[in-house]
Amino acid sequence: MISAPSGTGKSTLVQELLSRVDGVEFSVSFTTRGIRPGELDGRDYHFIDRDRFDAMIRSGEFLEWADVFEERYGTGRSVSLERLAAGRDLILDIDIQGGRQLRASGIDAVSVFILPPSFPTLKTRLERRASDSETQVAARLSMARSEANEVKYYDYVVVNDDLDAAVDQLITILSAERLRVSRRRLETEEVLSTFPAE
Ligand code: 5GP
Repeated sequence: MISAPSGTGKSTLVQELLSRVDGVEFSVSFTTRGIRPGELDGRDYHFIDRDRFDAMIRSGEFLEWADVFEERYGTGRSVSLERLAAGRDLILDIDIQGGRQLRASGIDAVSVFILPPSFPTLKTRLERRASDSETQVAARLSMARSEANEVKYYDYVVVNDDLDAAVDQLITILSAERLRVSRRRLETEEVLSTFPAE
């Protein structure tokens, strides 16, 4: 699970991670927000209307969901659990509210928070983004402070100063987490079974 204030470069980092590591999949969220130029329905998000989203909430179809910038975003429960059961690593790009829900759910999730190198850098990055209005930029900046405070509840922090270095750090986190004894029970047992009995 990856969270970050907007403008931190999280989407680019996630894309890089997905293209460089095998066995990882992006968890495609549901959202009520409009599709942006360059986005694809079913690849970036499942774009649905508010009525359908609310019906999904009522029928418990979300692992987590949240209101972000006046739109709704949520992670589908069944697909996520299926992919995890199939042994795939899922990358969830979710906000801090979703992060809290996931931690509380007891699901074995590793959480990574991406920070910009500084607030002024974040401001410049957001102002350069053509897709957002001035009001949207102001809203995202004022959210950034409180979001950044949430970093203390995450397992790892990556400062996105240099893209390649940040991607390398994400890969390091993933590689180390994959080597945890708790995730390698089968391999460990296989090796142990070759030892003579005590
Ligand atoms: P954007 O509209 O820029 O794609 O995303 C806005 C925010 O919504 C980002 O912080 C992103 O992490 C968050 N977000 C995207 N999908 C989900 C989701 O399924 N659940 C939650 N809680 N947040 C999400």
